Amino acid sequence: MFKADSKRYEKMIYRRLGTSGLKLPVMSFGMWMNFGRDNDYEVCKKMIHEAFNHGITHFDLANNYGPPPGYAEEVMGKILKEGLMDYRDELIISTKAGYYMWEGPYGDLGSRKYLMASIDQSLKRLGLPYVDIFYHHRFDYDTDLRETMLALRDIVLQGKALYIGLSNYNSEQLKRAHLILSELNVPYVITQPSYSMLNRWLEKDQLLKTQYDLGGGTICFSALQQGLLTNKYIDDIPKDSRAKNPNSFWLKEKDITPELRDKLKKLNEVAKKRGQSIAQLALAWAIRDEKMTSTLISTSKLSQLHENLKTLENLTFSQQELDEIENIIT
Ligand code: NDP
Repeated sequence: MFKADSKRYEKMIYRRLGTSGLKLPVMSFGMWMNFGRDNDYEVCKKMIHEAFNHGITHFDLANNYGPPPGYAEEVMGKILKEGLMDYRDELIISTKAGYYMWEGPYGDLGSRKYLMASIDQSLKRLGLPYVDIFYHHRFDYDTDLRETMLALRDIVLQGKALYIGLSNYNSEQLKRAHLILSELNVPYVITQPSYSMLNRWLEKDQLLKTQYDLGGGTICFSALQQGLLTNKYIDDIPKDSRAKNPNSFWLKEKDITPELRDKLKKLNEVAKKRGQSIAQLALAWAIRDEKMTSTLISTSKLSQLHENLKTLENLTFSQQELDEIENIIT
């Protein structure tokens, strides 16, 4: 059984999701790549417990996280069953559907058929009657947006999700979806885009402002650019890193270029002056605007989690530091 640390709420910072009643920790924990069949279950469990013990109340999943797809939800289901469930009312658990999940025409994108079936499968794997946030995982250009939004509303009405989120939608798509969701009285509270020092599309898109004006919050993913924005790739490509992982289709060894290493060395100098590692610098930078409610961290080792949690010790930037960083990353 699991007994949580009584000091777990002492250090974490919580920000409100837009105008909703819900707050999230500035660092939430994602379960995309490190909770598959090849990962050591005891390490997975320890990381989730340790995250919760440090005030991380939000755990982010999707139907297809693993590998194989669905496995991460099963792992979370097992961790809940083995003790974490005692703290269910202190947890925000999210899942999603929108990417390819099963064969045939009904296991992908944004149809009512897919979303209704997928939430039931997710709840079964998690061993839960409801999730706190259910996301449509990506915009579907072929399905009438109203069909997707009505399915999200019905998932809430059926008591299978408390709040709704939209992931990988741009500003224009969020505005269109929000029009329908507000007319349907759906508790839409959050969007989940990618964002890092090396991936700044949402600044051009003005997504943070759009979402703020819509009354919602934002949680970004891959703020470390899948581990590139850490100290470990400066001189080497460690054997146990994602860049060497054959299951990693987004990050490859070829992404570790001399130009990247040059940037990392310079970022490391800025980080050192702030008493931080590159990972801590990159995480703090991703949430420097208070409209960014939270950033998703994910770790393959307990030591990485501890390092990332220490980011909280220095979240503020001087204008000079921001300018120095800007010169390096642009
Ligand atoms: P990151 O960019 O933070 O990459 C995480 C990886 O970085 C870890 O697995 C680890 O890689 C490495 N890392 C983390 N901390 C450290 C450290 N201190 N020192 C060295 N290496 C470190 O995030 P992800 O890309 O994994 O995404 C995070 C979460 O965001 C996901 O779990 C998921 O919940 C969500 N997400 C959502 C998506 C969406 O479409 N909505 C898409 C992608 C992610 P290594 O394995 O090399 O040790």
